[in-house]
Amino acid sequence: MANTDSVLVVGAGPAGLSAAATIASMGKKAVIVEKEDVLGGAPIISGYARLVPSGEWAKDAIGRMVSRVTGNKDVAIHTSTKVTRFEGEAGNFTATLSSGEKVDAGAVVLATGFTHFDSINKPEWGFGTYEDVLTTTQMEQMVATGQIRCPSDGRVPERVAILLCVGSRDRQIGREWCSKICCTVSTNLAMEIKEMSPTTDVFIYYMDIRTFGLYEDKFYWKSQEEFKTKFVKARIAEVTKSPDGRLLVKGEDTLVKRPIVIPMDMVVHAIGMDPNALNPEIAKVFGIGLEKHGFIDRAEQYTNTQGTTRRGIYVCGAATGPETIDDSMAQGQSAGARAVADLYQLLAASA
Ligand SMILES: Cc1cc2nc3c(=O)[nH]c(=O)nc-3n(C[C@H](O)[C@H](O)[C@H](O)COP(=O)(O)OP(=O)(O)OC[C@H]3O[C@@H](n4cnc5c(N)ncnc54)[C@H](O)[C@@H]3O)c2cc1C
Ligand code: SF4
Repeated sequence: MANTDSVLVVGAGPAGLSAAATIASMGKKAVIVEKEDVLGGAPIISGYARLVPSGEWAKDAIGRMVSRVTGNKDVAIHTSTKVTRFEGEAGNFTATLSSGEKVDAGAVVLATGFTHFDSINKPEWGFGTYEDVLTTTQMEQMVATGQIRCPSDGRVPERVAILLCVGSRDRQIGREWCSKICCTVSTNLAMEIKEMSPTTDVFIYYMDIRTFGLYEDKFYWKSQEEFKTKFVKARIAEVTKSPDGRLLVKGEDTLVKRPIVIPMDMVVHAIGMDPNALNPEIAKVFGIGLEKHGFIDRAEQYTNTQGTTRRGIYVCGAATGPETIDDSMAQGQSAGARAVADLYQLLAASA
């Protein structure tokens, strides 16, 4: 028998939370299944500090999204849970959860997000070898403590280098895509470091700067003009250590076409967004396709924007490719609304 009352939402990051709130606001029940024991997705799991572009602390901004669903009688939540088996067709699906419980739903929204690039896969840039080489997420966690210190000995860094495009735009390691948000996140991080530690000089090593749309002025120019961040167009070859214990960033300044060897106290990798490492499993369980990079494939772009390759299953947010929080939430809303609209159509057809 058709079940047109409920929509299953897999993943409770910004996209999934937005989808669930939309579904409930349109008179249907949302059933969230989240594999972690907390709601909020990457910004909470990885402890982001202040979000771009709002400047609001992640725990506050995402906290509001979470309380929109936890306090809602039309949203059921299963944490530390995955879908292990999935059967049926649009209007009448049954999902078996890892708890053994079964959920009947007329439609599904996949909001399963992304996996942060693991900098270990770029060993020549020093991560995992030198304590003072960190990722942007680790640096954001440090910013949240209110102090900028070298992990190796606790000194205040005189010079910090942020290396852009780590695990993005890198064909050698099979990651051809741009992760979209890391230029903006890095320019913001440079300003946060300077604000907390005024004696620290921050350098950004880039191939191109992609602070898209309105972010050009708010982040790129502001970081340069007000916070004196130094931008160096370069190709970085390796990060090593000098005899005095400082880090050495080596490569080529691609504007003047000269080799560079620059001493730094800390190096930060602006890590990109990989497809969710679980996508092959998700594709198999839900019977959907993946696009060539491994993100979840979409249906026809202009008439079924949030559709997947299987009818009745929708996708939103960073599950589809690198996305910002704002766009992930907008897509969540769109996927939730589309799922509910299709359920109303099924209901009308069966009346
Ligand atoms: C270093 C860094 C900093 C960033 N900072 C910002 C910023 O300041 N502003 C901004 O706009 N964007 C930022 N982003 C991008 C932001 O992280 C994403 O836009 C956002 O997290 C995408 O939300 P999502 O809900 O689609 O995915 P996610 O946040 O990845 O959430 C997906 C959820 O699904 C769950 N899940 C995954 N697989 C399964 C499964 N099989 N079953 C059940 N649950 C599952 C996960 O546990 C997770 O809770 C940043 C990205 C990076 C890499
Ligand atoms: S947003 Fe910037 S840092 Fe991120 S991959 Fe694109 S160009 Fe590189």
